[in-house]
Amino acid sequence: MSLTLPGDRLASAMEYMPGPGVYERDGELFAALTGELVRDEQNTELRVKPVVSVPLEISAGERVLGRVHSVRESMATIEVVRVKGKARQVGTWVMGTLHIARMSEDYVSDINEVYRVNDLVQAKVDETKPALKLNTKAGRDGVVGARCSGCRDRLTMVENELFCTECRQREARKISSEYGQVQL
Ligand SMILES: [Zn+2]
Repeated sequence: MSLTLPGDRLASAMEYMPGPGVYERDGELFAALTGELVRDEQNTELRVKPVVSVPLEISAGERVLGRVHSVRESMATIEVVRVKGKARQVGTWVMGTLHIARMSEDYVSDINEVYRVNDLVQAKVDETKPALKLNTKAGRDGVVGARCSGCRDRLTMVENELFCTECRQREARKISSEYGQVQL
């Protein structure tokens, strides 16, 4: 699934017509919403289907578990799978955003040294309105499961760092104190 954020450049206006959730500026098409990009090839139209951003069963202060969906310059998007302590999965496609300033107590200059796509993350919910905003500054929050970006093997915790025993390489992350102990 392709996630768009407001202001993302989608295509040239020569290629597609702007549909709902898409606007045109200077001959280019941009996303107006956070959502799923739909390419309607039959009508040569692009649409953005809004993501259900605030499901009722999530409230501020709760902890959620999810998967890193994308990593951008100043934020990561997290696909929330469930609320911690609740057995039931969230069900709908719920996307939260994690801003670079809310990732760690330490200063983060490069998001790639903190999160990678597909990492499993535990995060605290800061806000649910108008969008789900997450925070992983606390020691227990951060990556709870990750795979090597080279061989995709599970990374193991060695002396407070993540290590691939296959590639004999370390990988930098914002590691949760509960790494390896949390099931999605
Ligand atoms: Zn590896």
